[in-house]
Amino acid sequence: MSEAITVAGVSVEPGVRRDLAPTASESFAGDRTTLPLAVINGSEDGARVFVTAAVHGDELNGIAICRQLLELLDPAELRGSVIVIPMVNVLGVQIGSRYLPDRRDLNRSFPGSHNGSMAARIARLLLEEVIIGSDVGLDLHTAANHRTNVPQIRIDTSDETSLNLATTFGAPFVLDAKLRPGSLREAAASRGVPVLTYEAGGPLRFDDEAIDTGVRGVLRVLRGLDVIDDAPPPAHDAPMILHESRWLRAERGGILELQVATGDRVETGQPLWSTVSPLGEERSWVEAEEEGYVIGATTLPLVQPGQAVLHMALPGDRLPSEDDPTDEEDEEDPDILQDR
Ligand SMILES: [Zn+2]
Repeated sequence: MSEAITVAGVSVEPGVRRDLAPTASESFAGDRTTLPLAVINGSEDGARVFVTAAVHGDELNGIAICRQLLELLDPAELRGSVIVIPMVNVLGVQIGSRYLPDRRDLNRSFPGSHNGSMAARIARLLLEEVIIGSDVGLDLHTAANHRTNVPQIRIDTSDETSLNLATTFGAPFVLDAKLRPGSLREAAASRGVPVLTYEAGGPLRFDDEAIDTGVRGVLRVLRGLDVIDDAPPPAHDAPMILHESRWLRAERGGILELQVATGDRVETGQPLWSTVSPLGEERSWVEAEEEGYVIGATTLPLVQPGQAVLHMALPGDRLPSEDDPTDEEDEEDPDILQDR
C-alpha cells in the first residue's frame, strides 16, 4: 500500500484522484488565477510523473492529450502517481496567446518567485508543488504561430535517462536541444528531474496525429516507469536522433508551393518549394543543398524573402554523440529571432 501525497497543501490518499486549483495570483478584478491540476495517486508505490500542457497558451494539442490521459488513468490500477496539468497558462489559453496578458513568456520565467509577475508566480507554484518531488516530467508543446512540427521529443541527448525515456516515448524524431535558461525543462533538470519536451503540430488547433502520438508516447513512458501495466506496443522504428537543425528561408516572395511535408527525408538536389508571383509569370525553385529531414514547416501560403519556410535537421543516428546541440528548444518565432 502506498502513502498519501500532499500537493498544494492537500493530502491525496492512495487509490484516489483529487482535482485541485491552487491560487497562483490575482487578476486586475481580484479574481483568483489558479493552476488547475489533477493528482492521481496510485494504490501502490512507484514513480511520480507530471504532465504539463499549454505552458504556451495557444498550444492546444497537449490539452487534448491530457484529457485522454485523465480518462485512461485509473488510480486503483496505478503504481506511483501522475499529476496532470492540462492548462498551465490559463490566461494565455483564454486569449489564444502564447504569452501571459503582460506578454511574458511563462517558459522563460522559471524558477519564478512568490512575489514576482504573474508568470513568475505561476512558474514558482508549478515548480514547488509539482516539479520538485517528481521523478520524471513530460511538457507538451506545439510549433509557434503559423508553423507546424512533426511529432518530436526535445532533450539533452547526453543525459542517458532522458534519452532512454525519449526512445520509450516512440515519437519518430528526437532532437538534441540544450537547456534554455528560464525554461521549465531547465528548472526541472537543475533539480534532478528529467523532462521530455514534446513538440507536435501547430497552435490553435487540434491535430489528430500529434495528439495520438502524444497519448501513446506518454502511456509508453508510464509503462516504462512501471506506473501502468498496459500501453501501446513500442513504436515500429527506433526514433531518429537529430543533433543539428536550421530554418531554410525564402529567397523570393510570392505564393508558396511546398514540395515536401513534415517528416519527409529529402536528398541533395530535391525540390523543396517554389514561389510564384501572383500574375504567374515568374516562378523560382529552391532545392535541398544537403540531405536531411523536414521537422517543421510554415503553414502560411504566401512568403517574403527571408521568411522561414522549412525547419530541416541533418540526418542523425540512433546513438547520442558529443556534437554541439541545437538551440531550438521550444522554438520562438524564427522570423522574430532573426531580427534580434
Ligand atoms: Zn511551446
